Amino acid sequence: MNIDFVCNIRFDTQEDMTRNVDKIANDYEGHIPFRIAYNFPIKYATNFIQNGKLFNTEISIKHEYCICYVNKRDVPHEILHAIYFKHEKYRHLVKTLYENLENNLKIYKILNELRYPDNVIIDEFQAYLFSETNPWTFFKIKSLDKQSIKYYQKCVQFLSNIGYKTQNKSKPKL
Ligand SMILES: [Zn+2]
Repeated sequence: MNIDFVCNIRFDTQEDMTRNVDKIANDYEGHIPFRIAYNFPIKYATNFIQNGKLFNTEISIKHEYCICYVNKRDVPHEILHAIYFKHEKYRHLVKTLYENLENNLKIYKILNELRYPDNVIIDEFQAYLFSETNPWTFFKIKSLDKQSIKYYQKCVQFLSNIGYKTQNKSKPKL
């Protein structure tokens, strides 16, 4: 996977991570309570880079985006935020899918209950959709119309082309 634009920063404890990273993420996307992992463009962390390192991790010239986590299983979700940030074409594909979904109000409500602010809803939608094992169950969506399936497959194709393997085990029903 060509993700050399992403700087992966792993912390030993949640407390350590929250203490260090919360202010950066709040600055980027607003306050979200109880984050379990973080993602933000590296320019938001400029003031925290010391001797070429951001916290415990070496920064390279290629790094445009950072993800922070304690547990490795959160990486696929956070990487999707980086991809969404980097690729305009992918953002467009995701938006087209989201707006075409009959049930997108349902999705909005679920993410809203998880306390995500409006400006990150579509970004979170794609991150859950392509990293959860059973995303359609997660979003309480039982079936998709044909057009949505087409848009969904375009997103999967895009991700696969750049080397990201989606986690989905279940396919939406026709
Ligand atoms: Zn997320």
